[in-house]
Amino acid sequence: MARVGVFICHCGSNIASVIDVEEVARAAGELPGVVHAVTNKYACSINGQEAMKQAITDHKLDRLVIASCTPRMHESTFRKMLTQTSVNPYMLEIANIREQCSWVHKDKEKATAKAIDLVRMSLAKVLKNQPLFTSTIPVHKKCLVVGGGIAGIQAALDVAEAGYEVTLLERESSLGGKMVMLDKTFPTLDCSACISTPKMAEAGAHPKIKLMTSCEIAAVTGYIGNFQVTIRQNPRYVNHDICTGCGFCEEKCPTKLKSEFDQGLGMRKAIYKLFPQAVPAKPVIDAEHCKKLTTGKCGVCAKLCPLACIDYEDKESFVTDTFGAIILATGYQLIDWPGSYPEYGQNADLISGLQFERLVNASGPTEGHIQRPSDGKEPKSVVIVKCVGSRDPAKAKAYCSRACCMYAAKHAHQILEKIEGAQVYIFYIDVRTPGKGYEEFYDKTRADGAVYIRGRVSKIYEEGGKLICKGEDSLIGKQVKVEADLVILETAMEPSPGSKETAALAGVSTDNDGWLNEAHPKLRPVETQTAGVFLCGTAQGPKDIPDTVAQASAAAAKVLGLLAKDNLETSPMISAVDTVKCCGCGFCEKVCPVKAITMVEIPGVYNGKRVTRGVAQVNSGLCTGCGTCAAACRTGCIDLLGFTNKQLLEEVDALWQI
Ligand code: FAD
Ligand code: SF4
Ligand code: SF4
Repeated sequence: MARVGVFICHCGSNIASVIDVEEVARAAGELPGVVHAVTNKYACSINGQEAMKQAITDHKLDRLVIASCTPRMHESTFRKMLTQTSVNPYMLEIANIREQCSWVHKDKEKATAKAIDLVRMSLAKVLKNQPLFTSTIPVHKKCLVVGGGIAGIQAALDVAEAGYEVTLLERESSLGGKMVMLDKTFPTLDCSACISTPKMAEAGAHPKIKLMTSCEIAAVTGYIGNFQVTIRQNPRYVNHDICTGCGFCEEKCPTKLKSEFDQGLGMRKAIYKLFPQAVPAKPVIDAEHCKKLTTGKCGVCAKLCPLACIDYEDKESFVTDTFGAIILATGYQLIDWPGSYPEYGQNADLISGLQFERLVNASGPTEGHIQRPSDGKEPKSVVIVKCVGSRDPAKAKAYCSRACCMYAAKHAHQILEKIEGAQVYIFYIDVRTPGKGYEEFYDKTRADGAVYIRGRVSKIYEEGGKLICKGEDSLIGKQVKVEADLVILETAMEPSPGSKETAALAGVSTDNDGWLNEAHPKLRPVETQTAGVFLCGTAQGPKDIPDTVAQASAAAAKVLGLLAKDNLETSPMISAVDTVKCCGCGFCEKVCPVKAITMVEIPGVYNGKRVTRGVAQVNSGLCTGCGTCAAACRTGCIDLLGFTNKQLLEEVDALWQI
């Protein structure tokens, strides 16, 4: 016979001011199976917990119902408390009489009646609870960081500095991401390369970091503490084990192409380093444009290389390694604006913010002289258009790209500083400057002479060698036309190409815009639904460098918390398959968001013959207990332990038993 203890919490006046807690305790005491029912001022406090422990001993309780706040708040507190008693921590049910009752009702009588109903339902469930036991899995003390922008670099360095092995994976031929393309960074105007290249070099040379460039994830299996990751090494056609990065090959390569790093404003060769300070400082061959690889002719680089590192036969290869944790830091790209805004036309002097960063950059194609790409002349009048593709659900993205208000102000400042007598006009919808020193920076830009015009630009066209920006000044309610020598479009950020696929391989979902989903936006912002997989930086959503770096260190801290353990306790509240009933349709495998279910063959007998048949198998390390498979299973052969169909139905039935 079960012996249930029911504890009704006052939560100070949070619950007790709306619910008659003494009446709830009295009613609970009359329910079958309840041997002890009392109220408690603060059940979660030390005193509250001690009183419950004492009651367990005094009344020989074997299960508990605690009527209090949401289980999200203190279920784990009470489970921990139960580990110090004779009661199994899973022989506990929480009736949420705060968020679901006292906080949403005013009528004391009705709220009290509802609280009694909630307690009765929890009691019905706890009577069907079975003791559950955690198991442990070993932790492989090594972390994989995917993406070598500032987010990935920071996270990798933090984990490595704590003494753990890190593999830092970057699909480009160098670390750096976007930050290393920037000239200066707001609001302090530090030289971006000066603060990012030392970090790149540190990550590249760190004894605990294995840097893998031109690499991508090909497959992920396993679970928290034990992920088996297959990494694809894309062909580089240069043997980096012997290449010293002398650069002879690059000098003599006859093939010239637009440099992606310089955003199409500078040139590179077919054999090239991404940029001069690249890490690793070694070239790769662009197979699509290399003459030798496309036509069989040339081969100059192989002839010139003093160490014979050129290998035109290089092929993609795969390695598999085991990691305890994965950090996704796959970053962002800017939207392709001509697709969304054909009314802006296409013109060499109509450039993106990132192109401007290369133009104003001392290590860029113009050595920092701001010139019109069309004729190399210094622009005297510059229009900056903000929110191109951001906050515009009709044409592109509904969200705010967060960093552009500030880098638009930075661009205005850089133009006014470098070009004497320049005029800068900024078309804006709002100015958002929530950051330390940000509002002051914006104020200074206006004081320096930048003219802010509130309104969207509806059309951009060429007239008499100038670009005409037509829009509305919504503050004066009039159409305006501004003549410009150069127009900078501060375009929306969107997720890096392929980040959705990469995230899916690691069992991480994305939102409607393709940004990686965090487990909880407020309470678990760097975790994902897949235990052991973390995220940081702009892979999760638009943000600036300070927020990116802070989030990267937060992800690293979470990883360190995990890698510091030798073994991990797994939650026993996971799904379980009744293999006798399972028909092997595989539907559950398809719906499981974290790929915790696989179909396996088990022996069976059919018509007297030995056969094998497929059944679903749950990986206890991966299953998060979300219950999707249990809801989807058409034969009803999957149950979520702790939330079995039987328990839930008893709970619902109890609502009607008065
Ligand atoms: P990224 O820099 O995009 O790095 C992601 C990396 O992951 C890349 O190297 C990419 O190649 C790699 N990657 C992507 N997918 C994969 C994959 N599947 N496998 C392996 N590798 C992958 N912020 C400021 O604070 N101050 C400024 O002044 C400033 N100016 C800016 C100016 C402009 C024009 C723009 C557009 C942004 C500016 N920002 C500024 C914002 C800043 O660029 C970002 O906050 C920062 O670069 C984000 O870093 P990240 O590492 O998250 O992303
Ligand atoms: Fe350049 Fe290709 Fe010729 Fe080498 S073989 S020099 S990379 S074009
Ligand atoms: Fe078996 Fe149900 Fe999964 Fe189908 S959905 S394979 S019946 S467990």
